[in-house]
Amino acid sequence: HAVDEEASARAAAARVDSGAPTIFDKIISKEIPSTVVYEDDKVLAFRDINPQAPVHVLIIPKQRDGLTELGKADHRHEEVLGRLLYAAKVVAEKEGISEGFRVVINNGASACQSVYHLHLHVLGGRLMKWPPG
Ligand code: C5P
Repeated sequence: HAVDEEASARAAAARVDSGAPTIFDKIISKEIPSTVVYEDDKVLAFRDINPQAPVHVLIIPKQRDGLTELGKADHRHEEVLGRLLYAAKVVAEKEGISEGFRVVINNGASACQSVYHLHLHVLGGRLMKWPPG
């Protein structure tokens, strides 16, 4: 089991921010289907294909605009960052998990970020343990 964890950490560590387009562009353009749970002019929220909880929704900016990861944020991103976080609250309400949910951003290879288009994970519908792995 420890070997599996080490292998998956190494695999994740191989994915670094190259600035290349990601699969999320195709989700935004609907070239790849997704189950949308919330959408407005700035953000899109859809179900994660590999859910880690009964509710697992990803929230992304429709325009990446250099936001490959949170660490690349600039003052120009402040508005969209607020919109993303507010959308997490809206999604939690829509999904019926307002009483207990978790919002996660994995930033960078050592935090297991695999898609370099900023995204918030909204997780809930089960007991969320602390600390996360
Ligand atoms: O934080 P991280 O970059 O690891 O999260 C990427 C997430 O995107 C994963 O949870 C993965 O399951 C999800 N994903 C998806 N649809 C895809 C590709 C990845 O929901 N086509």
